[in-house]
Amino acid sequence: MALTRARVRVEGIVQGVGFRPFVHALAGRLGLAGLVGNDAGGVFVEVEGAAETVERFLEALATEAPPLAVIERVTATPLTPTGTRGFAIAPSEAGGVRQTLISPDTATCDDCLRELADPGDRRYRYPFVNCTNCGPRFTIVRDVPYDRPATTMGGFELCADCAREYHDPADRRFHAQPVCCPACGPALALLDRTGRPAAGEPLAEAAARLREGAVVAVKGLGGYHLAADAASEPAVAALRARKHREDKPFAVMVAALDGARALCQVDPAEAAMLASPRRPIVLLRRRPPGPGAAVAASVAPGNRSLGVLLPYTPLHHLLLAEVGRPIVLTSGNVSDEPIAYLDDEARERLGGIGDWFLVHDRPIHVRADDSVVRSFGGRELPLRRSRGFAPQPLGVPWPFPRHVLACGAELKSTFCLAKGGHAFLSHHIGDLENYETFRSFTEGVEHFRRLFAVDPEVVAHDLHPEYLSTKYALELDGVELEGVQHHHAHVASCLADNGEAGPVLGVAFDGLGFGADGTIWGGELLVADLEGFRRAGHLEVVPLPGGAAAIKEPWRMAAAWLDAAFEGRVAARLDVVGRNRDRWEHVVALARSGTAAPPTSSAGRLFDAVAAILGVRDAVNYEGQAAVELEQLADPRERSAYPAGVAPTDGGLLRLGGADLVRAVAEDLGAGVAPPLIAARFHNGLAAATVAACEALREEEGLGTVALSGGVFQNMLLLERTVTALRRRGFRVLTHSRVPPNDAGISLGQAAVAGARDRARAQNPGREEPPTSPVTGPGTGG
Ligand SMILES: [Zn+2]
Ligand SMILES: [Zn+2]
Repeated sequence: MALTRARVRVEGIVQGVGFRPFVHALAGRLGLAGLVGNDAGGVFVEVEGAAETVERFLEALATEAPPLAVIERVTATPLTPTGTRGFAIAPSEAGGVRQTLISPDTATCDDCLRELADPGDRRYRYPFVNCTNCGPRFTIVRDVPYDRPATTMGGFELCADCAREYHDPADRRFHAQPVCCPACGPALALLDRTGRPAAGEPLAEAAARLREGAVVAVKGLGGYHLAADAASEPAVAALRARKHREDKPFAVMVAALDGARALCQVDPAEAAMLASPRRPIVLLRRRPPGPGAAVAASVAPGNRSLGVLLPYTPLHHLLLAEVGRPIVLTSGNVSDEPIAYLDDEARERLGGIGDWFLVHDRPIHVRADDSVVRSFGGRELPLRRSRGFAPQPLGVPWPFPRHVLACGAELKSTFCLAKGGHAFLSHHIGDLENYETFRSFTEGVEHFRRLFAVDPEVVAHDLHPEYLSTKYALELDGVELEGVQHHHAHVASCLADNGEAGPVLGVAFDGLGFGADGTIWGGELLVADLEGFRRAGHLEVVPLPGGAAAIKEPWRMAAAWLDAAFEGRVAARLDVVGRNRDRWEHVVALARSGTAAPPTSSAGRLFDAVAAILGVRDAVNYEGQAAVELEQLADPRERSAYPAGVAPTDGGLLRLGGADLVRAVAEDLGAGVAPPLIAARFHNGLAAATVAACEALREEEGLGTVALSGGVFQNMLLLERTVTALRRRGFRVLTHSRVPPNDAGISLGQAAVAGARDRARAQNPGREEPPTSPVTGPGTGG
């Protein structure tokens, strides 16, 4: 029998996920000799045996890998057989350039759940049971290499039993860094508001308090949550009042899938998302509330959908079983502050909200909010990509020549570090509007730089001079700055999400973003590739009366749009005018004056205006609320659409006639048409106008692919209508499935643009001017 020996390198997420014991067991099963070890580049293997067995071994490396492993590449080079016997786990090799990746936090696996429920197991009902295939990762890592001392488990010394498992290659907990048990690991405590421990078993007591209607702050994986009995109206209402959160829906945790099905419609794709090891909050369509509704009205007031998630830590599993019904589980913060994650800070900040604190002594190193997804066409559409996803890198097919830091936008802030073929998109940071969030941003950047050994030479930023992320970028020394226009970044993020480089027709619909001409954009049609873009069309421009005030008060946008639609002849019998009679004329005058009323092509603000006209709401408590509620109002069965003109302006750009839509809305309302029909016809009309504009541009540009991005495309009705109509007309359509279409995806887009410009420069080193792509007109590329 001819022997072969090969040296094998495995790259990807292969450390801290049980890869070496897996290789060890696989080689043992196949009777192969050799060794396996970790080094800076991932896992190295030497394997010797019959040629075809070695072949089977190589195949199985990828196909049978442990659940948390992400194999990016397996390369094998031949060696001379040595005749050694047995298979060994080699000591780790230190040094070299760090290339290893860190796994996201992962939901408790079935094996651990079995132990949790087994009275004979030494980890029976232990709220911190974990193993190589599950448990905390990213949120406990302080530094690399990923070893226990570099995690927040460093302070817990392994007991003899745990140490034996940790050192046994045949054990499921071999080199599982967070391994622990009741004898040696973290412990729970239930404290009152003053920090005094409550009598009794903490978990059972916390559950009892929840059932009695108390609000309990629960220390979880990436921060503190606030929990309340989801069926109790007084409990949920108290939580809402104390948190200063007026309408924004709360998420509900249910014990298992059938609990989700009792509350909502769950299709197979949604069930898979709920039960995935990432365990995001999944937005589901609610069932009509029946008698004895399991969820109180104030959980998600007036909302047709409900955010539902399954337990993802042993603590959650035990708590849900003990409470016996769904609980509200919402971020531990007051209004828009970042989620609390340090114990002292949590007690201080949440002391006025939580009646009780269910805590433990395992420190959280990085704050990570729950992720939020929706299903679109059976694929995940992320709305917030955080716990369970970050920091898993996004692979891109075009390597970054130099290391890049992209600073993102302002709302729903994320940053992105990139090198080689990897983009490391950060966890959700929040709205960069206060010191606390900004500190979280700067600390996050430093942490990611260290973990992934990224030393940015190129720093990409938004063009908005007042964003804290822009200011941060501009203050960095010794780096090359790359300004990226907001909506170009949206389209580039959609391209990067799909691993494409363009050129495409990019439709970027969002709230507000700084335009290349210094005005406020937000309803943009771009001809774009990764490197550059040309503005080819936009939504009709109206004034934003009162600037920021118009964002908080959609009725102001109604005034601006009605003025544009009826040229002064405002239909005074519209309720929106009557409701705001005191200030209406003043705001119309403000809009016409152009002072404190900057012009904008924002699509988000058009939704606000229509929502106000239809009486959905005149003021919002959170960004995008009016638009979300307008979508909820719309009757999805209605297929007819308001016509909207699509015509070139003087400047040669296509203009989508928003005023046509607003006029039709007001006229139908005056004629007594039901608001759900009007809302649907408006959605359908905007989708039709968008498609018509794309068709006109296809004629001119010869481009048959459309990329849809921007926060407005979180609206499923608009997204579905636009995608369907585009496909029917023969377009290829790119949508988001790995990063959110909202501003959380901006940093990835910026990184992709900076990388593309860097590649262009590298190919043409003599060029002094900033590179321009084939689609970039002068002065529009940022
Ligand atoms: Zn496990
Ligand atoms: Zn132990």
